[in-house]
Amino acid sequence: MDCIFCKICNGDIPSYTLYEDDKIKVFLDINPISNGHTLIIPKNHSVDLDDTSLDTINYTLAKAKDIKKLLEKKLNPIGIRLVQNNGTLEEVKHFHLHLIPFYNDNNKMNVEDVYKILNN
Ligand code: 5GP
Ligand code: ZN
Repeated sequence: MDCIFCKICNGDIPSYTLYEDDKIKVFLDINPISNGHTLIIPKNHSVDLDDTSLDTINYTLAKAKDIKKLLEKKLNPIGIRLVQNNGTLEEVKHFHLHLIPFYNDNNKMNVEDVYKILNN
């Protein structure tokens, strides 16, 4: 299947990975809205909310809770938005959650530098 996120899961496309296990992968968005914009995806391909099992949604959501804490600790945002897009709003048709931090001053850094901060 020609799916960018499946290719990221199997390592064909590199990503700044924050967490990975047999079920999910967590990595930085390549075109971030803000520093620390993170995607959480199940490795098993499904398209959207309708197409994804509650077990899988729960597992990705549980990890979103952990990663939210990491983003807060390392990047000190004023808040973090959790987003999941469906239909024409969903650009990549592989189920994923976004964690999008917000800041008073949005001084955007390059993704590699943000990755280094998150891994320190
Ligand atoms: P959507 O609109 O589908 O909810 O969001 C898809 C997100 O995936 C976008 O924020 C976009 O920047 C991100 N994205 C698209 N292609 C890639 C990629 O190859 N690598 C990474 N890390 N993010 C990607
Ligand atoms: Zn996929």
